[in-house]
Amino acid sequence: MTDAFDVIVIGGGVIGMSSAWRLAGTGRRVLLLERDRTGAEASSAAAGMLGAQLETSSPGPFFQLCLESRSLYQNYVDELREETGVDAQLNHNGIYQLALTETEAHALQRRMEWQIQAGGRAQFLSSREVYESEPLVARNFGALYLPDDGNIHAPLLIRALSLAVKRTCTVLEGAEAISIVTHNSLDYTVSTHSEKYVTRTVVVATGAWAPHLLPSLTGRIRPVKGQLLSIRPRRATLQRTIFHHHTYLVPKRDGTIVVGATEDKEAGFNRDVRADAVQYLLDSAQQVAPGLSDAVFVRSWIGHRPGSEDAHPWIGELAESPQLHVAVGHFRNGILLAPVTANMLLDSIERRPWPVHWQAFHPARVSHEGEVTI
Ligand SMILES: Cc1cc2nc3c(=O)[nH]c(=O)nc-3n(C[C@H](O)[C@H](O)[C@H](O)COP(=O)(O)OP(=O)(O)OC[C@H]3O[C@@H](n4cnc5c(N)ncnc54)[C@H](O)[C@@H]3O)c2cc1C
Repeated sequence: MTDAFDVIVIGGGVIGMSSAWRLAGTGRRVLLLERDRTGAEASSAAAGMLGAQLETSSPGPFFQLCLESRSLYQNYVDELREETGVDAQLNHNGIYQLALTETEAHALQRRMEWQIQAGGRAQFLSSREVYESEPLVARNFGALYLPDDGNIHAPLLIRALSLAVKRTCTVLEGAEAISIVTHNSLDYTVSTHSEKYVTRTVVVATGAWAPHLLPSLTGRIRPVKGQLLSIRPRRATLQRTIFHHHTYLVPKRDGTIVVGATEDKEAGFNRDVRADAVQYLLDSAQQVAPGLSDAVFVRSWIGHRPGSEDAHPWIGELAESPQLHVAVGHFRNGILLAPVTANMLLDSIERRPWPVHWQAFHPARVSHEGEVTI
């Protein structure tokens, strides 16, 4: 039994690592427990879009949260590069949300109006403007241009974060937390298969697996399997992310294009890379950007998004469990939301008042009773 740590962070995905790194930066002694190896799950699988405006369907706290996190990204990747030498390849190249029908064009124009009113930059481009800037995309009725959205290379971000936490925290890989127990609501004992650790502050950032440790999240956090693939254009490529309905094509600085993504709520933790999903993604890519039809197929992979009931994350201290915090349920936007989530957790742990728009993501909506015995 050891109690040398101020905070134990459970889960070494983008959320757990960003939070552990941020907490260690305040001088805290942080233990990070990862069941597998850091970044083994959804975080390395992600397409890496920073779609703050793309991913929101109405103004409100989630839109504000996404814009806030996007605005933190440049400093976040700069600090990571200084600490580790790894460049996560942040691209400020904007996103085109394509209209393939007139009805879609009208809907996107309405979307542009509320986004501008809510503080985002957005512009509706004619089909000619789209063709001149992105000649590989399909004939269209214009596109909504979101110039401040962008993308990063998720596996490189994970490599940088892994190095950063290994420098600043104690990181145990292959260390699955199997229980968190408190007897006096002051000290927590976190057990792995071989060790027990005592601490006053715990952060659970175990992604889609959160209910395994915290049964009160059962039914509220669940896996949403997603499959992606990547292609390498033979000649010209896209300049920016192109999005249409459920399909996106994200050009990476290494010359590949990530095509995504399926969304399967019924697959549980199934890990199959399915042929019909590859077919669907290739067909969708062909519909959106026929100019890429002779690209070279590189690979396909899957990940389990941590889905939540309302598709929004749960961040903060659990009711009746002082200093037991969660940061889960980031669903489609965990890469985008990692910097702001780390700030929210730090303020939560230090009991600083939260701005109003953060409060919509507090787990007060979890009914959590009595002792936490898992
Ligand atoms: C196909 C796909 C495309 C995506 N595209 C984007 C995108 O473009 N932009 C974006 O912002 N987001 C995207 N996402 C979403 C993003 O990947 C997730 O929201 C984010 O990675 C969640 O991070 P996490 O740290 O919560 O979870 P994870 O990365 O899953 O990490 C959880 C970690 O906890 C560990 N763990 C679990 N249980 C235990 C335990 N008991 N003890 C110790 N460790 C444990 C796991 O091994 C894992 O490493 C995408 C996701 C998928 C699947």
